[in-house]
Amino acid sequence: MLNNILNIGTRKGQRHAVRMTNLFIVIGLPLLILNVFVQALEFNITATEFWLINGIVILAYCATLLLNWLNQNELARAWMITVFVLDITLASTRWFGIESLIFFHLVILYPVAFLLWQNKPSIRNALLALISVAFFAVFYWPSEPMYPSNIEQRHSSMALVFINCAILLSLVAKLFSVDTQRAHNHLAKQARIDPLTNILNRRELERQLEQACSSVASMAVMLFDIDKFKAINDQHGHHAGDEALKHVVATIQEVLPEELMFARFGGDEFCILWPNCKRPQAQYLALQLVQHVASKPWQHQQHRHRQRMTISMGLAFDTQSQHLSKLLIEADHAMYAAKGKGRNTFVAAWIKPKHSVPA
Ligand code: GH3
Ligand code: MG
Repeated sequence: MLNNILNIGTRKGQRHAVRMTNLFIVIGLPLLILNVFVQALEFNITATEFWLINGIVILAYCATLLLNWLNQNELARAWMITVFVLDITLASTRWFGIESLIFFHLVILYPVAFLLWQNKPSIRNALLALISVAFFAVFYWPSEPMYPSNIEQRHSSMALVFINCAILLSLVAKLFSVDTQRAHNHLAKQARIDPLTNILNRRELERQLEQACSSVASMAVMLFDIDKFKAINDQHGHHAGDEALKHVVATIQEVLPEELMFARFGGDEFCILWPNCKRPQAQYLALQLVQHVASKPWQHQQHRHRQRMTISMGLAFDTQSQHLSKLLIEADHAMYAAKGKGRNTFVAAWIKPKHSVPA
């Protein structure tokens, strides 16, 4: 039963943090209700107020479990910490007055908030927890009487409680937004990047080509495919094939200017975009890339021999923006022409195959 509650909403990769949140609820809920109950006796509050406070606490904490169950784990944590702060602040100030000292529970709040925040407590969070404890010590060190009799002192103590809560909430909100932004960036990156080679994917390249249509004076498209790649897979296995793909990408990157767009089109096919270049520059780079890949054999990790790898490239070029989207098709045809010419070469779409430059 307890394990079932702790496992609510847990998923691979988030298990630790979600279980910690659920554990906090399981321990915190009865403790807080007990606390309110004791305070109710002590401060002689009405039954309505007592049930109101209890009801809010129970509902609020159950909502955390519900959010986790709906896999809204980050929201569950933000909600739990916010409710915890507000609950304690309200209980300690509105209902019981500052003398109740309930607000002293805030001391555990900072460490809990920061340590619970991420999947694994990081050094950053541990440091923040330490700072928060120090912060607490400075603000609440009982140099003054625990129960200030003077009304002004009470007011200043109460102000400290609220300042403390405001700082905590803004810190938590900041962390929440940082984490949310990070998650968002991660997802945005995943949508743009090919996970195996870590370069752009086809969708992103086509999007950028589409955008470039209206803003560039010229565009060169280089589409290339690894020669006889199936044989590498057949001979060394798919995993080794993946390594060979990464090797070709790294080899290309050694020569390719960083500002050019380089994407994996799928399988063993890749594409490079070079906006605002001149035809001879594009031809020179295409030749350089074909020759460079051929000159850098791939070293299989478990075998001694080095595997020569070559590519066949199709090059298309245009200065008229309305034709840019057609460049991909032209580059594709040129690439097949390069395969037809015996591979390890490039063919420029605007030049008859007999003029293509062999590598
Ligand atoms: P060609 O010179 O005509 O291009 O011959 P090829 O053997 O390279 O033929 P093709 O380009 O059609 O074959 C591509 C192969 O790439 C087929 C597929 O098994 C393999 N492949 C596609 N994606 C991956 C991948 O992510 N990893 C690995 N290891 N292999 C892949
Ligand atoms: Mg191929």
